Amino acid sequence: MKKTVAIIGGGPSALIAAAYLDPGKFDVTIYEKNRSLGRKFLVAGQGGFNLTHSEPVDIMISRFTPDHFLKNALLNFTNENLRSWLQDIGIPTIIGSSKRVYPEKGIKPITVLNKIQDVLFKLKVRIEYDHCWEGWDTNNKLLFNNNKTVAADHVIFSLGGGSYKVTGSDGSWLDSFNNKGIKTIPFLPANCAYKIDWPEGLIAKNEGAPLKNISLSCLNKTQKGELVITQFGLEGNAIYALSPEIQSGLSAQGSATIFIDLKPILSLNELQQVINNSGLKTTEILKREVKLSQSQIHLLKSMLTKEEFLDHVMLSEKIKSLPLTVLAAAPTDEAISTTGGVSLNEVNENFELNKLKNTFCIGEMLDWNAPTGGYLLQACFSMGVCVAQNLNSK
Ligand SMILES: Cc1cc2nc3c(=O)[nH]c(=O)nc-3n(C[C@H](O)[C@H](O)[C@H](O)COP(=O)(O)OP(=O)(O)OC[C@H]3O[C@@H](n4cnc5c(N)ncnc54)[C@H](O)[C@@H]3O)c2cc1C
Repeated sequence: MKKTVAIIGGGPSALIAAAYLDPGKFDVTIYEKNRSLGRKFLVAGQGGFNLTHSEPVDIMISRFTPDHFLKNALLNFTNENLRSWLQDIGIPTIIGSSKRVYPEKGIKPITVLNKIQDVLFKLKVRIEYDHCWEGWDTNNKLLFNNNKTVAADHVIFSLGGGSYKVTGSDGSWLDSFNNKGIKTIPFLPANCAYKIDWPEGLIAKNEGAPLKNISLSCLNKTQKGELVITQFGLEGNAIYALSPEIQSGLSAQGSATIFIDLKPILSLNELQQVINNSGLKTTEILKREVKLSQSQIHLLKSMLTKEEFLDHVMLSEKIKSLPLTVLAAAPTDEAISTTGGVSLNEVNENFELNKLKNTFCIGEMLDWNAPTGGYLLQACFSMGVCVAQNLNSK
């Protein structure tokens, strides 16, 4: 007789797990609290919709914090494997200039979701909507809001992180896990905007201005990329990637210092030579010789004293390492992703809970972090495949 698998939550990690479970061995049911699947997946699709990143998988692994826990899952189901699977189900993908992977032009996010749902339909995966999991009853059965209880041979939790609650991923399940003795960590925003008290005047001229081709450092990590100046502070892929370092500063001392290198392609020496060898006025040197954008020049003028701006040595040093104080993260609900959730110490390398056999946790509900650019979805997909293949092999 077939064994039963209950998957709780209907996001990307759940959907691919259901798609990879062997229908000859398992009767699979997805229990989703909403009336539709993949709402956060569709929200992701409103922006860049990076399905994965195309860099070599060993480099990809290093993007995750911590990086060891996902290694096997990512090697087992790589970015190439994900692209092939998507191609097979009718979603050809392309690699953009940023090396991120997108659905081919013209393919809408809902089409991607529908194609995945078609796979589940063919596999006869049952989907129970309006089923909000509320914990375990005294017999360890799954308890739902409609008083329904479910006993399954295997349970896969894929309840999501703690941002964009409107999509269904609201973290309301944390208490149920804690009550069961499974350690959870409060959700914190990751991949989010960070608050900076800008000097007066900067925002008036530069709100929404991008700072392109910069690199950003915090503690011992440096990230190349782009920033956007906002009323609140800064956002963009460069600062998102430094979330773990910034968050550690915020929780330890209430602020974190970040350093922008506005000209990463020049060394300090080279930059000083360019500046010293020019006979132009300082602002003209920055514009014509150093080729900084108007916003970058405004930023320097706003953050430096007149003396620092006019002194070529000090100016060069600040161009290469402009310190800014981060005062807070944006609210959790506005973050692209969150850290926190089920502690990684609670699961083994197959994402099975150490304290509850045959029960797995996958996706953003686990306490890990990755920058934007396709890494989040790749990790969710890889974890889903890992759990499914592990069950298939039993
Ligand atoms: C604005 C935005 C843009 C993004 N862009 C990208 C991107 O371009 N690339 C990328 O890689 N990632 C992106 N992400 C992140 C990505 O969407 C998430 O990391 C991913 O959806 C997480 O998948 P998941 O399966 O873990 O959980 P989710 O997608 O959050 O799904 C969890 C599901 O569980 C359900 N659920 C929750 N609690 C219960 C319960 N008690 N009972 C029953 N069901 C429950 C929820 O309703 C939900 O359907 C973006 C996220 C946001 C918010």
